Amino acid sequence: MREGIHPQYNQVKVRCNCGNEFITGSTKEEIKVEVCSKCHPFYTGSQKLLLEAGGRVEKFNKKYGKK
Ligand SMILES: [Zn+2]
Repeated sequence: MREGIHPQYNQVKVRCNCGNEFITGSTKEEIKVEVCSKCHPFYTGSQKLLLEAGGRVEKFNKKYGKK
C-alpha cells in the first residue's frame, strides 16, 4: 500500500469564533469558522423573536382577559 495517493479523510475539530467546537469530516487538519449553528444570527435571532412574541401575547391576554 502506497501512501499519498488519496487525500487522507480525517475527523477534524471545527472551532468557531464563539468558542463552540464540533467534529466533522475533512481532509484538512483544522477548521476555523466565524459562525456556527449555535451563534448564527438566524438561530439566535429567531429564538429571541419567538420568546418576545410569546411574552407580549401573554401580557395582552392577562391585561384584557382574553383567551
Ligand atoms: Zn459559533
